[in-house]
Parts: sequence; C-alpha cells; structure tokens
Amino acid sequence: MAAAPVNILLVDDQPANLQALEVILEGLGQNLVRASSGKEALKRLLNTEFAVILMDVCMPEMDGLETAALIRERDLSRHTPIIFLTAYEKTDVQMFEGYSLGAVDYLFKPLVPIILRSKVAVFVELFQKTEQVKQQVELLRQKEREEHESRLAAEKQRWEMDLLRREAERDKETSEILAHKAGELSHLNRAIQEADRRKDEFLAMLGHELRNPLAPISNALHILRQSGNDPQTTVEMYDILQRQVHHMSRLIDDLLDVSRISRGKLELRTQRLNLTEIISHAVESAHPLIGEYRHQLHVRVPDRPVWLDADPTRLEQVLANLLNNAAKYTEPGGRIDITVSPNQGADGLGDAVITVQDTGIGIPPDMVERIFELFTRVDRSLSSSTQWGMGIGLALVRTIVELHGGRVQASSSGAGQGSTFEVRLPLASAIDWEPPALAPPTIATSDRPVNVLVVDDNKPAVHSLALLLRKQGHRVRIAYDGPEALEAVRIHVPEVVLLDIGLPGMNGYEVARRLKEQDGFDRVVLVALTGYGQLEDRRSSQEAGFDHHLVKPVEPAALEEIFSQARTKKSGTLQDAVSST
Ligand code: ADP
Repeated sequence: MAAAPVNILLVDDQPANLQALEVILEGLGQNLVRASSGKEALKRLLNTEFAVILMDVCMPEMDGLETAALIRERDLSRHTPIIFLTAYEKTDVQMFEGYSLGAVDYLFKPLVPIILRSKVAVFVELFQKTEQVKQQVELLRQKEREEHESRLAAEKQRWEMDLLRREAERDKETSEILAHKAGELSHLNRAIQEADRRKDEFLAMLGHELRNPLAPISNALHILRQSGNDPQTTVEMYDILQRQVHHMSRLIDDLLDVSRISRGKLELRTQRLNLTEIISHAVESAHPLIGEYRHQLHVRVPDRPVWLDADPTRLEQVLANLLNNAAKYTEPGGRIDITVSPNQGADGLGDAVITVQDTGIGIPPDMVERIFELFTRVDRSLSSSTQWGMGIGLALVRTIVELHGGRVQASSSGAGQGSTFEVRLPLASAIDWEPPALAPPTIATSDRPVNVLVVDDNKPAVHSLALLLRKQGHRVRIAYDGPEALEAVRIHVPEVVLLDIGLPGMNGYEVARRLKEQDGFDRVVLVALTGYGQLEDRRSSQEAGFDHHLVKPVEPAALEEIFSQARTKKSGTLQDAVSST
C-alpha cells in the first residue's frame, strides 16, 4: 500500500526561492507548505507535523537559526529535521550553531536539484518509516489490549461458568436433599398409614376380644338363674364365669402393659429366683388352655435350680404367653414341649435357654421377625384355625426379655410345621450368694369372720365383692363415697377397710388421711383398691397411710391373707399381698 503524502515546510523570504524549491520537490509527490518568514514557519508548526523543514538561513527580522532555535523548544517539532539553505560560504561558527540545534544538514545555493531532492526524499522516507513503526507499535498495543481484554473476558466467562457449575451442583445437592427428604417423608407417611391401619385393626379386634367373653358370661348367668340350686350346673357355670373373667383381666392387663411400654414405664422388680419355679407357675397358668385343646405338654427342666436375677411376675408372664400361644396356634391334640437348659461357661456365667416348641400351624418365614411387633398378627384368613388375640403378647414378651438383658427369637419350618420360640436370659452370677433358706411355713390362723367396710362408688363392683365376702362368712358394710365411709367408721369400727381410690368428690387418698385421724383407727387395716398398680401408685397409697395396695379385680386369696393378718394383729408395715403390676 502506497504511503500517504507527508508535509514538507519550505521557509524563505524570497517568493522566487520558494517557487524554485517547489519546482525541485514537486516530483516527490508530497505536501509542500510555504512560509515566507520565521514567524509564519512557527505558526505552521503549531498544529501540523512535518517530515522535514527547508529553511533559508538569511531572512529579515528572524533569521533561520533563530527560527530553528524556537522550533526546537516545542514538543511537536523538537526532533523535526531541518535542512538549512544558505547563499553564503559556510562559516564554522554558523555550522556549529546549526548542528547544535540538531539540524541534520546544510545545502548551499545555488541548489543542485538532484541533491536537494534526494536528501529530502531520505527524510521523507525516514518520516514515513517512523510513522509506520509508530503505527505498528500502536497496532501491537491495540492487539495486546485486545488480547488482554479477550483473556479477561475468557477469565470472566470461566469464572461465571464456574459459578454456574457450583450453583448447579448446589442445586443438585439441594434437590438430592429434597428428594431424600421427600423419600423420608413418604416413608414416614407410609409408616404412619401402616400404624394407623394396625391401630384400626387393633380397635376392631379389641371390640371383638372384649365382646367374646361376654357371650359365655351372659349365657352362664341365664343358666344359673334357670337352674335353681342344681349344684352340678352351678359348679360348671362358675367355672365358665371364672375363666372368662380371668381371660378379660389378662386382656386388660396386657393393654395396660402396652401403654406402659409405649410410655417407657414398664418396670422390673428383680430378685434372685429359681427359673424352674417360674416355669411351674407359667405351666399352671397356661394349663386351662392347654387342657381345653387336649394338648400333651412335656416339661423338661434340670434337676438343679437355675438361678436368675429377674422379675418373677414378668417372667411368668413371658412363659405363660409363649405356652398360651403354643396352645392357641396348634390344632387340638397337639404336643407342646417346654425345655430349660442352662448354657453355663467355665466362669459360671452364661444363659438360661428356654424353648417352647409346638406342633402347630407354624409361622410363614416372612413373619418370624415381625410377629414381635405390636399389633402384628399373621393373616390366616384362609386357614380354618381359630384366630384370636390382638398381636400384643409377643411384643410384651420381647420387651420384658430385653429388659432382662435377654433375647427371644422364633423359628418355624413353615405352615403346619410347628413353631419354636427360644428365650435366652443371663444366668445370675454365683459369686457372693447363697440360696435363701426356705421361708417359714404360713401358720393358719383361725377362720374367725372379720368386720369389713367396702367403699366404692361402682355399685356392681361393691355389691359383688360384698356378696363374695359375706359368702365367706365375713360381716360386710358398704359405703359409696368418702363422707359415707367416714360416717360408717365412726359408728361401727371395722377391722379392715377396702377403699377404692377413684371415688368421686373426695378421693381415696383424702378419705384415707381423714380415717387415719379418727381415734382407734390405728388398729384398722386399710387396703387400697385400684386399677393402677405401678410403683408410683403404690408409693402414693403408702404415703396416704394405706397398709396394702390391691389391684382390681381382687383375688380372694390375697384378701384372705390380709384378713388373717387383721385377725391376729395389724402388721404396721405396708406389704403388698398381690404383686400384680
Ligand atoms: P396374639 O394375641 O395375636 O396371639 P401375639 O403377639 O402373642 O398376639 O402373637 C402375634 C402373632 O404371632 C399371632 O397372631 C400369631 O399369628 C403368631 N404366633 C404367635 N405364636 C405362635 C405359635 N406358637 N405358632 C404359630 N403362630 C404364632
């Protein structure tokens, strides 16, 4: 590409000279600018850049050298080459002065056109080259700037991408957490629905279970009314009534236990005991059902005592439950085996292993674990077997066994193959312990009738208890609330007061406190009758001054024990005749 024309300044006071210069330089094709004095030259230089200045030395007013000195003072023209043109022979002084101004050359008149043209051409080219270099530099800078900017842009883009990626990762994490939470929620929801379903099923079953004993009770009552005093029928009907009442009591006890489990309030009253004795109690309590189904029961226990630190009532409950289940879930005429084998290590420690095995309907493999969950029953709608129970028993069994530090597991080879339940309980350590001496035999006291006051606002309950006690020959008075009880005691001092705790108005604790204030009452045995048998309930009745705490329904045997104490002498300490909790 051809370079653009550059400016050349021609300075001379003689127009003819200027013209001559123009003629000589015309062929270079550059911009020739005239100035007829130093002053004019300076004016031209104010805002135009020149490639070279041709300056006449000898000019009126301001000569060439003076003008050049002023040119050099300005930034724009400090380095512009100057060629002095002079008509005179050069003198050393002039030459020296000229060179000190940075001029590059002198030419003498008459000018030789070719020399002048070629010199000027050199400066023109130099200027053009310099301009090119400047442009190159500028281009380079521009390129550098652009590169820098594009690097910055790329960096910014990377940074933004990074930010976006991290945001996306965070979003992904958040959505993963949300998905997880949603999963948990739906799992929870399903669990709640399942629990809800089991609760509904349980309530339906509860109604059914509570209604079941009512039919035989009602039938027995009708028969009793119609049969007059036929002793055979009476005995049979009493038998039915007793069994059904026993069944209902067990049901209610189980329900109370469930509520204790769910509140974490199931407590153990641990003592050193012989497992063999507990087995015999459990067998006794399961005996009616086993007999009803005509099962054969085989009990195998070691000759020597098997010592455990355990709660006797709870342990009996566990074993009776397993035996009752074995009886329930085996077709009549089956076989039940209960076996105890101590599994003792060399250090004397170990487990007592109790197995209850039956030849019954068995348990499907997917249920052997689940049957220990509350309200879980095996659905046997297609089976002809009796289906009863509420799915509570095994949950209680597991909780009680685990509270004892033991384990329970079920196994079965499948439908119709029978089931085996294995309970492992830690053996008591033999160190520092001797078996207790045999308790002294209870000395039977005389059967003298006792004066009893029964206080309860539940009329059927109070009347039936009074009837029972009167039948046994005791003298019984009845009061339906606290004030009536206080009045009755004032008139006829009884030997035993059976006092319900949940009385309307003045409750049993308050009545007890007031009774205790009456003269001569310290000889009276005061017994709390209540539906609650937890440790704190017993503590409350003890604090209120009760001598005994009995849980309803009261066992006649427990009452008899209290009456025999009353006949001899009041013990003065609170002893629980029944340890039902
Ligand atoms: P239930 O009151 O229903 O008997 P459990 O908690 O004692 O409640 O037992 C739960 C379920 O386990 C029972 O409904 C029954 O299906 C099953 N089961 C328990 N014991 C046996 C057994 N010996 N043989 C077969 N199935 C049993």
